[in-house]
Amino acid sequence: MKIVCVGGGPAGLYFAIRAKLRDSHHDITVLERDRPGATHGWGVVYWEPLLDVLFRSDPVSARELRAASTMWQGQRVSVGGPQPAYLPGYGYSIQRATLLDLLARRAAELGVDVRYHQYVADQDDLNAIAAEADLVVAADGANSQVRRLAGPDAFGTRIEVGANQYIWLGTDRRFENFMFAFERTEPGWVWFHAYPSAADISTCIVECAPQTWTDLGLDRLSDADGCRLLERIFDGPLGGHRLLSDCHGRPARWQQFTHVANRSWCHENIVLLGDAAHTTHFTLGSGTALAIMDAIMLDRFLHKHADVPAALRDFDQSGHAALGPMQERARISMSWFEGVDGQLDRLSTATQPMDGERPSTGEAPDPVAFAFKMATRQGDETSLRYQILRAAQLPAVRALDQHAGRGTRWLHDKRRTLVTR
Ligand SMILES: Cc1cc2nc3c(=O)[nH]c(=O)nc-3n(C[C@H](O)[C@H](O)[C@H](O)COP(=O)(O)OP(=O)(O)OC[C@H]3O[C@@H](n4cnc5c(N)ncnc54)[C@H](O)[C@@H]3O)c2cc1C
Repeated sequence: MKIVCVGGGPAGLYFAIRAKLRDSHHDITVLERDRPGATHGWGVVYWEPLLDVLFRSDPVSARELRAASTMWQGQRVSVGGPQPAYLPGYGYSIQRATLLDLLARRAAELGVDVRYHQYVADQDDLNAIAAEADLVVAADGANSQVRRLAGPDAFGTRIEVGANQYIWLGTDRRFENFMFAFERTEPGWVWFHAYPSAADISTCIVECAPQTWTDLGLDRLSDADGCRLLERIFDGPLGGHRLLSDCHGRPARWQQFTHVANRSWCHENIVLLGDAAHTTHFTLGSGTALAIMDAIMLDRFLHKHADVPAALRDFDQSGHAALGPMQERARISMSWFEGVDGQLDRLSTATQPMDGERPSTGEAPDPVAFAFKMATRQGDETSLRYQILRAAQLPAVRALDQHAGRGTRWLHDKRRTLVTR
């Protein structure tokens, strides 16, 4: 089969790998508009279940990906005071450029033709590709050009834009673990989500409400001046370190999150994959994993059905059914973060008591009470969970959590070695 993937992000590259592994006779080309190594964004986080999926799907790239990732244990939530709250659990992070580089190398090794500086710009480009290929995979991201060129009714696209402003930065402060830092400014709260990405760089996504953004002048400041202002606001949590805007030659820009949904993910011989089909708010840290799962699922249905239209219909149906709950969680998460100022201000003036606790008042919000609200933003706000989180602040309980994490990882690694031997 002749397959053209537009976009060399995780979705396009992983699909090319899977399809080539399934059938080495497939003729697969990936068209990427950028040069090798150029990418937006710094690092992404992912969780243990993705590693399981990757090891089952292609142990070679999975091993490389795991080796290039950083494991972090627990999340720290700081709300301006000296002592951050601790949220148990662990996850992984990897630099986006490293991820794309290792996937592109693996694809090329399997015989995929990965071409850079290939921008699918207009109708003529798309027509030429679609006429020549049995299948066109539109893996060209949230603002998919292929989706747009296919026409307004082709996929039934719905776009909603989030209210908050965010910017995807790096910092030369090496965070060992995931860190949320919320800082109060005169106009309102500003916060970052940071995690280790590379040897000496952490990813740092800064976010705030739209009014705070304009009142701080972030809409008017130059790239460099904006970073300097944010460094002053986050002087404590950054420990005097710098924020970095220039990611592989491109300065980061302030944006609002684009929520993408499509009535259908296929039209004629074109199929949407990854962010082109659906986005999930970055506070869930799952977009890359979902893009890879899409790739695996599409490959599976192409193998199951003799003809492409039947495979695409099945992929469309199953994919929508699997994704629904995740998109709902992402929406809840996005709107929770849009209401963060209110949450923090309420906790600042009167610490909300949980069952059995006496109310107290104070200036700084209680980081544990706030971390609890954040951890339970999808619901499940029980008194027992709160007590468990309170207990997790004790060094001995924290050490136990970290010990349990090591045990869980050891078991996962052992099982993967047995499965992929
Ligand atoms: C701030 C932020 C933080 C995030 N953090 C996480 C996280 O921690 N964990 C996580 O799992 N996900 C995260 N995500 C989501 C994740 O980045 C995406 O879900 C994921 O990259 C989707 O992969 P994709 O291949 O579908 O699209 P992309 O990664 O966007 O790749 C699309 C590719 O297509 C290329 N392209 C675009 N148009 C054309 C064209 N016309 N012709 C040729 N090439 C084209 C682009 O250059 C790009 O390389 C985050 C997103 C944001 C915005």
